[in-house]
Amino acid sequence: MEQSYQLFVDGEWMDSISKETFKSYNPATGEVNAVVAKGGKEDIDLAVKAARKAFQSGPWAEMAPSDRGRLLNKVAQELWKKADYLAEVETKDNGLPINENKMIAMPSMIDVLEFYAGLANKVQGETLASPPGRFNYTLKEPLGVVGAIIPWNFPLMLAMWKIAPALAAGNTIVLKPAEQTPISLLEMVKIFKKAGIPDGVINVVPGYGSDAGNALSSHPDVDKVAFTGSTSTGKIIMQAASKNLKPVSLELGGKNPNIVFDDANIENAVNGSMFGIYFGQGQVCASGSRLYVQESIYEQFMEAFIDKAQKIKVGNPLDPTTHMGPQVSEQQLERIEHFVKTGVDQGAKLVIGGERAKVDNGNFFTPTVFENVSSDMTIAKEEIFGPVLSVIKFKDEEDALQKANDTLYGLTSGIWTENLKRAHRMVKGLQSGTVYVNTFSMLDSVAPFGGTKQSGFGRELGIQALDMYTQTKNVWMDLNDEHL
Ligand code: NAD
Repeated sequence: MEQSYQLFVDGEWMDSISKETFKSYNPATGEVNAVVAKGGKEDIDLAVKAARKAFQSGPWAEMAPSDRGRLLNKVAQELWKKADYLAEVETKDNGLPINENKMIAMPSMIDVLEFYAGLANKVQGETLASPPGRFNYTLKEPLGVVGAIIPWNFPLMLAMWKIAPALAAGNTIVLKPAEQTPISLLEMVKIFKKAGIPDGVINVVPGYGSDAGNALSSHPDVDKVAFTGSTSTGKIIMQAASKNLKPVSLELGGKNPNIVFDDANIENAVNGSMFGIYFGQGQVCASGSRLYVQESIYEQFMEAFIDKAQKIKVGNPLDPTTHMGPQVSEQQLERIEHFVKTGVDQGAKLVIGGERAKVDNGNFFTPTVFENVSSDMTIAKEEIFGPVLSVIKFKDEEDALQKANDTLYGLTSGIWTENLKRAHRMVKGLQSGTVYVNTFSMLDSVAPFGGTKQSGFGRELGIQALDMYTQTKNVWMDLNDEHL
């Protein structure tokens, strides 16, 4: 039977004011997963009010930072107990293979909460050099109410990247999950409530981007907007937030170069490059979707790569032996098909894949490789967000760097080489927020993640992310008996 979900506002479950609902589908079967209350502007208003109240008064506002950290750690302990359950919920929501959810997404998501729980009592200002008779210092204060807008590819993980630092620093938060994947976040807030997070500190309003999302990003009483999603939506969000001059952080798209030099360990480079593009069905902002292979090893490398790519098992994401599950929606499938057709029309050579995989009634696509791609083709320039790899040959370091940086994006890049000096030269030259050397798509709570160019700005994760959820107050004190 279909489940139904309401909005979570001020610690309570409620229908949307309009009473409207929308359906959330299982992408592997096409079946309705749940009917979900559809939040709109008035619901966002209520949620922001609740978050403001919880920020200004009540237990959260009065809590010592150490107690806040302890409480967040308690949530983390409860999340560990429910991690496998949440992984299943999310796999049914977005199609990520269960093994990847259980072994990568959930543990990494909870680790992020533990990392920031530990930092809650380390958010601190500085004592500054003061002239005689004066005392000059800074306080690091929370911003207030954070508005967070989340995409569908890793709903819990990307929500936690915002929830954990925001709450650790003492803020409250209103989240809008993607309309394709609202369920896992609604399940997760049950655990926050059970662990004792006070009412209003975390609120979830599912709904559509143009409606609930727009209301949240343009809300005058939201103090910061944190967004992960596409570059085109990021531009709209920035405009909306600018109406009230609110700070934004934007984690946007990528068309990330992955460069294999002829001195690389070929087997590792093949395995890492496969993970780089096909992990998460290619629906990963950090994915290595442009593969550059040095001319001298091109045939050898591609033969090994294609051989492995053909063995990828596409299928039911709940089956632990599945490597690639479904794309998130029919709309996303159509988008991928459009890019494949454009690639063929523009003269690239479709080597494998390029079509739907016939598995149940789900949105499955085959692992796809294009060769003979040139930098001016659409499939070399635009983010496809699917399991489609564009392969390009290069001559030398200079050529690789020029081609890799020839993009509007700058999220991640990868290099495969056994030459240390070359690795350092490339790290310096590549224009991206993260560079992977002899690996791809690594993440860790301690490692700041974010983009340059049109991949956005701001860094999530790491100690640095706390800067996005705090503001500095400078305090001057006159210690003289008489005012001079
Ligand atoms: P999207 O931009 O379509 O949607 C993301 C979120 O924004 C959803 O919650 C959606 O409802 C909301 N939204 C849409 N229009 C809006 C509007 N006008 N106002 C306010 N909110 C609005 O992106 P998507 O398709 O869900 O996700 C895929 C994109 O996300 C890809 O481009 C991918 O690269 C990017 N992404 C980036 C990162 C990163 O860390 N840089 C991580 C994951 C995904």
